[in-house]
Amino acid sequence: MSRNNCIYCGQPITERSREHVIQNAIGGMYESVDICCPQCNNYVSKYIDAPFTKIFNPIISGIDNFSKTNNKKSLQPCTGTVSYNGQMYHANIKGGKVVNCPDLSRALHCDATELPLKIESYDFNLENTAFKNGMAKIAFNYALDQGIDFNKIKHGLNVQKSGRNITNISFDYPLIPFCALNPLDLRIELETPFTPYHSLILFRQNHKLWCYIDLFNTFQFYVLMSDKMPGNNKVYNTYAQTLQKIDRSEPDLDIHRPKDILICAKDYGVEPCMDLEEFKKRVRVAIQQKSQKISLDKIITPKAEYVSYNCILDTQISTPEKILLGQHVALYFDDDDRLNTNNFRTVTLGSAPDDILSYPELINYTAKQSQTYLHEYSNAKFAVLNNFLCQNTK
Ligand SMILES: [Zn+2]
Repeated sequence: MSRNNCIYCGQPITERSREHVIQNAIGGMYESVDICCPQCNNYVSKYIDAPFTKIFNPIISGIDNFSKTNNKKSLQPCTGTVSYNGQMYHANIKGGKVVNCPDLSRALHCDATELPLKIESYDFNLENTAFKNGMAKIAFNYALDQGIDFNKIKHGLNVQKSGRNITNISFDYPLIPFCALNPLDLRIELETPFTPYHSLILFRQNHKLWCYIDLFNTFQFYVLMSDKMPGNNKVYNTYAQTLQKIDRSEPDLDIHRPKDILICAKDYGVEPCMDLEEFKKRVRVAIQQKSQKISLDKIITPKAEYVSYNCILDTQISTPEKILLGQHVALYFDDDDRLNTNNFRTVTLGSAPDDILSYPELINYTAKQSQTYLHEYSNAKFAVLNNFLCQNTK
């Protein structure tokens, strides 16, 4: 069903415009044509997307083959911490290169950027309005595109107007930082090889509508869209995509024996055939069609398998922890080892195995007791990202 009126200005939509659910500047590929008019699309870019996507500049420049742009010249500068002779200094960085390090330059009376500086970490400001607005907009767009009634979530949208012109757009929905509260999630997030991806999970639980957002597999938040969502029909949707451009060049197929055709067919997911030209054509088509959009199952299942396998072998992990881990594997995965997307990131287990708790509400409760564990988790998550970026931008 398509919407007739723009959600920002309320005017009839006479011309469809593509709005990215996740901002295109940070690699978002998922578009909706059903949200706003072209004019308001521009306002959203100006007031929400531009300030928001700036926050992620260090990552965009740090990911090889980033799907949006590889042009390092077009990148905005950012800030971070660099080390020189074991001391840390604040620096301005652009495209993975230190462009200015005033404190060190002053101390040594020279241009510090000529020295062998090592980028140790990047700054990410998550406490500002731009961050909150950008995250809320993703949740808002996703909910609308998945068919949630605008009237049920419009309380969080603020549009300021001067005459017919929109002078500001902002969002006001509670944001809860995700924190891994069980050993399976903790190990999936911190102990499996880092690959940047975006994912979204929209779900209803206890009359609340939540959107879980994970950007770059680092910025993980629950957005509370509504706490008045009664009803029985299920709301549960997921979206996931990778961020690195897929190599679509044609491979050199190494085929000498009939058996090689079977091996290649399996690698590229095509039907084997003995006509070599026809077979190459099938591989070409398969490569072209491969999309960065991926099911969440395809991302999480290999990570959980990695964790399970390593934990079974690890004698350092206590038996009670192994049991708890196994119980969460059973909560998240069905009998065919497929991710049970109803449970993943929406619930976790309490002290007893049949004690199923709301994940965001348990985080809220934990945060009220103490912030320490939450900070430790987010610091550990940023350390993984920084490690990835600093290795990539050397
Ligand atoms: Zn409009």
